[in-house]
Amino acid sequence: MPVGAPKMIFKQYLCPSMGSNIVIAIDGYSSCGKSTLAKALAKKLQFIYIDSGAMYRAVTLYFLRNNINVHDEFAVDEALKNIHLNFHSRDYETHITLNEEEVSEEIRHMPVSQNVSQVSALRVVRQEMVKQQQRMGRSKNIVMDGRDIGTTVFPKAQLKIFMTADPKIRAERRYRELYGKGEPITLEEVFENLAHRDYLDTTRHESPLARAEDAVILDNTGLTEEEQLDFALEKVKPLLG
Ligand code: C5P
Repeated sequence: MPVGAPKMIFKQYLCPSMGSNIVIAIDGYSSCGKSTLAKALAKKLQFIYIDSGAMYRAVTLYFLRNNINVHDEFAVDEALKNIHLNFHSRDYETHITLNEEEVSEEIRHMPVSQNVSQVSALRVVRQEMVKQQQRMGRSKNIVMDGRDIGTTVFPKAQLKIFMTADPKIRAERRYRELYGKGEPITLEEVFENLAHRDYLDTTRHESPLARAEDAVILDNTGLTEEEQLDFALEKVKPLLG
């Protein structure tokens, strides 16, 4: 180990099996910039970035393609047995495969966005995803973003950030992103979708979206990406020793 090597690498290198890895949990409402911050933070710290929402989206895509009725418990159980998800990290962008097929683009389209909150409210779906997420964070330094990371997936995460932003600003950001990709959609439709997902995500029975008591709040309505990263890095500093 060279002198002056960053401490986080030292810790990871020294005792990966002793639970000394660092987990940073970023939760919050739809389209508040969680993944942008999580990616930037992971890149800066050389941690692994995991987009938990992509997993729920990929499951939803499978349900849509195979006409799985969310009220049919047997069909849902069978579907889950046939779903194999994998992350491939390239340049800190999310690359997810569903049964070996790259679906990273398709899971961002509106049909998935319009159904994902119904699928992710199912207990069996959450149990399976949480199990996989916990496995990924068992021995590695990770930044994971989602809705229940600080409350359910990693309640002992060393740093929890809860993000929020003005709903109109969130809708405009998301609209620009989707419009830029050629998705035929209006600002009103995006606004409605975000509001609907937030409603379902916060009111569902199974691990609803909520701020963990020990999470720091980051309202990024008027903040640049750089300012958000600085805020998070300040909070991370004490963890790196
Ligand atoms: O993060 P993203 O907007 O891609 O997530 C899509 C949906 O997946 C959310 O609206 C929510 O219904 C679900 N989700 C969840 N728990 C997570 C991450 C996402 O229920 N940890």
